[in-house]
Amino acid sequence: MTADDLAFDRRHIWHPYTSITAPLPCYPVVAAEGNELQLADGRRLVDGMSSWWAAIHGYNHPAINQAIAEQLQAMSHVMFGGITHPAAVALCRRLVAMTPAPLECVFLADSGSVAVEVAIKMALQYWQARGEDRRCLLTVRQGYHGDTCGAMSVCDPQTSMHRLFQGYLPQHEFVAAPSCRFDDEWREEDIAELANRLASDGSQPAAVILEPIVQGAGGMRFYHPTYLRRVRELCDRHQVLLIADEIATGFGRTGRLFACEHAGISPDIMCLGKALTGGYLTLSATLTSRDVADTVSNGEAGCFMHGPTFMANPLACAAANASLALLEQGHWPAQVAAIEQQLRDGLLPLRAHHQVADARVLGAIGVVETHTAVNLAALQHFFVTQGVWIRPFGRLIYLMPPYSIQPEQLALLITTLTASLDRPAHFIA
Ligand SMILES: *Cc1c(COP(=O)(O)O)cnc(C)c1O
Repeated sequence: MTADDLAFDRRHIWHPYTSITAPLPCYPVVAAEGNELQLADGRRLVDGMSSWWAAIHGYNHPAINQAIAEQLQAMSHVMFGGITHPAAVALCRRLVAMTPAPLECVFLADSGSVAVEVAIKMALQYWQARGEDRRCLLTVRQGYHGDTCGAMSVCDPQTSMHRLFQGYLPQHEFVAAPSCRFDDEWREEDIAELANRLASDGSQPAAVILEPIVQGAGGMRFYHPTYLRRVRELCDRHQVLLIADEIATGFGRTGRLFACEHAGISPDIMCLGKALTGGYLTLSATLTSRDVADTVSNGEAGCFMHGPTFMANPLACAAANASLALLEQGHWPAQVAAIEQQLRDGLLPLRAHHQVADARVLGAIGVVETHTAVNLAALQHFFVTQGVWIRPFGRLIYLMPPYSIQPEQLALLITTLTASLDRPAHFIA
């Protein structure tokens, strides 16, 4: 990439959550292979991010490459209205088999946010079909469910998104985020607010929606499995649907194939995305039970009211089939467990560091929460000069490497993160 390309990028191209007027620096990546990204100047960076939870097998994986190449020879895309194709059927078979029991009807869409929109619409159509006026969702604070309007409306209300779009977003109900940590002793009062809300007179919500066990972009918090178990019990008792947003947690990241398994529960609706295609192409899935699917289909509309243009895109389905086949080989639990151990050994001692408010690890996720916000440009520059790709946000520096990361590569990520804490210029005073 030339200097001119970079200048064009700065002037004309939006990046995630950035100003186009005063953008932070962007690093040109021209290739990615295994667990490394390659910069335009030839430098290689060990990947600590899996491209935001997605690239679980690393980059340029021969098996996924081959699956996409074969699919490309057959067809890259075909509409899904009135047509089906082998890649979609194989993928949905897999998803039905690997997700918890009652989930057996699959809706494929383009991205995580859309999967959340689909889940919300399913819940709304479900109650409409049952003749009940339920339009409100109930969720916990500090959640993150995506950037489209329905998804935004159930994200943490303190973030600027709600303020910015006030009057436009639907109003939903929030209770406090779970405070009992994953490894804490369970405290029953943690669920009291949610329990009281559902036990109160007045209209019930259409659904409770939350991220199981790990609240991701809303703060990288790991909460107690009993919280999730209680949510399931309460939803059953009060006849409220439960939507589990497993878009970040699905496919092994937390040490279980799905985070719901930590609590031994199944949701009524589950959203999947991110790692679904091994990080190759955008694709998401919303799964639900036969009961919800039938009820929705027997309502006034006689169908579920959604149908994206690129629904079940064959290339994306082929990538997903190849990625799930790699998971089915069964190496991931040992890989994630080894990453977890190395992250614990490396990051938990940082709790004693003066810059650090907390350090926590679950599965292949390691989080260092600092006292003050990071100076993103300075910190990112430091990481790149040290040969690693780590992208912090706010007060969170976190690692979620590909499952294929090698011990010495993970060691470099950890020692570099550790060293970064000693430079005051990396933090906003
Ligand atoms: C990333 C994410 C989404 C949104 O997915 P996109 O593909 O970015 O639209 C939704 N929910 C959770 C929990 C996520 O982590």
